[in-house]
Amino acid sequence: MLDIVIIGAGPAGLATALRLHQKGFRPHLYEGVAEIKPLGVGVDIKPYAVKEITELGLFDEFAAISVEARESVFYTGYGQEIFGEKCGRHMGYEFDQRFVHRGRLQMMLYKAVQERLGKDAITLGCRCTGFEQDENGVTLRFDNHLNPSAPTEVRADVVIGVDGIKSVVRGQLLPESERTHFSGLTLYRGVTVMPPFKTGGSILHIGDPIRQGTLIVYPIQDNFDAEGNQLVNWVIEQNEKPQTEEDWNQETGVKEIEHVFDDCKLDFLDVSAMIRDARECYLFPLIDHDPLPQWSFGRITLLGDAAHAMYPRGGNSVCQAFVDARVVAEKLAEIANPVDAFKAYELERREKVNWLVLASRGEGPEVVRRIVEQRSGGKPFDDIENIFPHDEALSIFSEYHAKAGMKIPTESADAKPGKYKSVFVTETK
Ligand SMILES: Cc1cc2nc3c(=O)[nH]c(=O)nc-3n(C[C@H](O)[C@H](O)[C@H](O)COP(=O)(O)OP(=O)(O)OC[C@H]3O[C@@H](n4cnc5c(N)ncnc54)[C@H](O)[C@@H]3O)c2cc1C
Repeated sequence: MLDIVIIGAGPAGLATALRLHQKGFRPHLYEGVAEIKPLGVGVDIKPYAVKEITELGLFDEFAAISVEARESVFYTGYGQEIFGEKCGRHMGYEFDQRFVHRGRLQMMLYKAVQERLGKDAITLGCRCTGFEQDENGVTLRFDNHLNPSAPTEVRADVVIGVDGIKSVVRGQLLPESERTHFSGLTLYRGVTVMPPFKTGGSILHIGDPIRQGTLIVYPIQDNFDAEGNQLVNWVIEQNEKPQTEEDWNQETGVKEIEHVFDDCKLDFLDVSAMIRDARECYLFPLIDHDPLPQWSFGRITLLGDAAHAMYPRGGNSVCQAFVDARVVAEKLAEIANPVDAFKAYELERREKVNWLVLASRGEGPEVVRRIVEQRSGGKPFDDIENIFPHDEALSIFSEYHAKAGMKIPTESADAKPGKYKSVFVTETK
């Protein structure tokens, strides 16, 4: 049997191991940290990625740790509603859209790998530092100072580099890819424990990108404290901050941002209090890497953030990694020569994902808030229809969903524009 090594046990590496296992392989994972802990804050799992989780046989476990997305609503910086649409099954997709804590998702996958492949399928505290490849296989080198019982050298038939945004595997294969692309925006990523708001599964997009910056809010865990409160994730994008490190774990306070949304008056949420009451807050520069010209190099390929580090604002990084995981496993199972299998995996995935890397640099549907800001002169309005008609918003959203590979299901030939106008739009007025 093909001896497959996966470098990195993040969500993508673990999902890859599970997909390979479904195809009859027994991959081994090497992970740099000595202990896998539930780090990070929220991730948005789109219907196409919930499909992947379901196919892994993990939907029930996933549903238990996540919150179903019901609606997505856009507001000005004053808290005036611009547009709303439903999410997931409520929109007519076959699968839910769900919000989850990134660390809890990783722990769920970690547990599944241990149960299905065995506890010895993952070596922790074993950081890959480089490799040499020849015709018959790959020799990997490791730094094992966190786990002296781990090996310092391993031989494998093939290697999948799933070692994240700062990938050592990518760095050796494509040294020029280490250059990062900084948007000039800094993300403050926080979580607050608070009572459920609106539908209990609402994602809010607030603020005007010119005057204030952007705030995205969504719940990631129900009944967090056994008193009915949710763990709510929020992300604030701010302009003109110095570039910080490309590191997900830079803790920060909320002093600099606690008053940015004081003008925002919502009758169901005290935005400033939510920010002030944060349990945790992290800085992350809105950075990506240019789309890669190649993923597969003989017996080595890249997957997940190592292959396509993109701005997290589109909510596609982990979702796309789950698709990568399925495709690489399918190709290795179908094509006898692993070098050809890796090429076929890259052919199916790279161009599509590279398009998303570039598309994520744009505003996507968030552009609606900029349009309203410009047309209203940054002032409150009386009637949104006079500034930004609903049909115009619909056409922007339809185009975005279709381009991101999630054509709105109700948008079949006989459906008329406006037919699926959100029932939630006026709910809070
Ligand atoms: C600590 C952390 C917190 C995050 N928080 C968020 C968040 O809040 N929101 C969000 O949208 N995204 C977050 N991300 C990124 C998100 O997990 C990824 O965008 C997505 O899940 C794809 O996962 P990945 O497995 O490709 O990358 P990652 O999740 O980055 O996982 C890569 C794994 O590889 C390991 N690794 C790295 N280098 C080596 C090496 N040389 N040898 C062996 N192992 C190595 C890392 O320790 C990590 O476990 C976070 C990532 C990390 C690492």
